[in-house]
Amino acid sequence: MSTESWFFIIAGLVIFNYLFSNILDYLNHKNWKDEIPFELKDFYEKERYEKAKNYAISKNKISLYSSTLSFLLIICLLFFNGYGLLDRFVSQYDSSFIKSGLFFLILYIINTLISLPFSYYNTFVIEEKFGFNRTTKTTFFIDFIKSSFLSILIGGLLLFLALSLYNKFNEGFWLWLWIGLSLLMILINMFYADLIVPIFNKLKPLESGELREKIEKYSKEVGYMLKNIYVIDGSKRSTKANAFFSGLGPRKTIALYDTLIQKHSDNELVAVLAHEVGHYKKKHIFLGLILTIIQIGIMTFFFELCLSVPEISRALGGANNNFHLGLIGFSIIFSPISILSGILMKFVSRKNEFEADAYAKETFNGEDLALALKKLSADSLSNIYPHPLYVFFHYSHPPLIKRLRALN
Ligand SMILES: [Zn+2]
Repeated sequence: MSTESWFFIIAGLVIFNYLFSNILDYLNHKNWKDEIPFELKDFYEKERYEKAKNYAISKNKISLYSSTLSFLLIICLLFFNGYGLLDRFVSQYDSSFIKSGLFFLILYIINTLISLPFSYYNTFVIEEKFGFNRTTKTTFFIDFIKSSFLSILIGGLLLFLALSLYNKFNEGFWLWLWIGLSLLMILINMFYADLIVPIFNKLKPLESGELREKIEKYSKEVGYMLKNIYVIDGSKRSTKANAFFSGLGPRKTIALYDTLIQKHSDNELVAVLAHEVGHYKKKHIFLGLILTIIQIGIMTFFFELCLSVPEISRALGGANNNFHLGLIGFSIIFSPISILSGILMKFVSRKNEFEADAYAKETFNGEDLALALKKLSADSLSNIYPHPLYVFFHYSHPPLIKRLRALN
C-alpha cells in the first residue's frame, strides 16, 4: 500500500474513533428516563435522581471538550506534519533511545498540558459542586507531580525494554516483547498494593474488632487465604467509597476505603468481600490474566507488523522507517482490533460479575450485597439507565438493575 493510502487509513481511524465514542456518549446521555425503578425508590428519591442526571451531564460536557481538544491536536499533528517535524528534531541525536525517548517525552508534555486544566476543573468545580471533593490544592499538586514522575518512569522503562528487544532481534522481536510485557504485568499485579498504592495513600491494617473478626471468620469458612486486610485513606481525595483486591497466590490483599467502612454495615462489607472471593474461587482472576496475556500477544504481533511497513512511518511524515513513528502509527491502526478485544473482555467480565454475585449470595448473603450495591450506586450518583450499546462497549460491570434482579 502506498504512503498516501496509509495516511488516509490513519486519519480516517482517528476521525472514526472520535465520532464513535462521542455518539456512544450521546446515546447514553439521551437514555435517562423520567421514572425511577421501584427497586431503587428508597435510594434515589426524586431530588437525588435529578442530581445524578445533572452530575452525568456535567461529566459528559467536560469529557466532550477534553476529547475534542485531543482530537484536534492529533488532526493538526497529522495534517500539518507535526509528527514529521518532531521526528526531524529528535533525529539530531545518535542514540535510538534518546531519539524515541525525547519524541515521546515531548508528546507526553503536550498531552499533560492539555489534560491538566480539565482534571483541575473536574476536581475543583464538578466534584466540588456535587459534594464529592475532598482534595486540597496541595494534594492535587503533589499527586500531579508523583503521577507524572511514575508515568515517565514506567513509560521510559517500557520504551527501553521494547527498543532494546527491537534493536537486538528485529524480526521476531514481538515474541520477546510479549514475554517481557506479560512478566511485567504479572509483577505489577503482585506488588501493586505494596509498591504503587503507598505512593499515593496510607494503608493501615484493619484494627481488630467485630469487622475484622467477621471478615476472618468468613474467609476461613470458604477457605480463602487472606494475607492482609487494610484500610486506605480514600477520604483524603473524595467522599466516594471503594475497595480493591490485589495480589496473586499467597500475596492476596484486600483494601477497604475508610469511606466505605463509614457508610456500610459490617455485613454489607463482608458481602462485598464475598463477591471478590467469588472472583477468585470461580477462577476469574486466573482467566482474566490469561486473556490479558493473549491480548498482549496479539498486540505485540501487530506492533512488529506495523514496524515492518516503512510506509506507515512515512505517512506520519518521517524520512524513513523508525521506531517511534511506527509506534504512533500502530497505536492508531490497532484501535479497531483493540475495540473488538475490549468488547470480548467486557462481555466476559460482565458475565463474571453475575457469577461472583451469585457466589456471595450462596456463601454469605444476597440481601446484604444488594443493599451495599444500591447504597454504593446512590452515593456515587451513578447512572441507573445506561444505554445498552454503551454498556456493550464500555461496561465491565452489568448495570445495577440487572445485578439486583439477578440477585433476586
Ligand atoms: Zn466484581
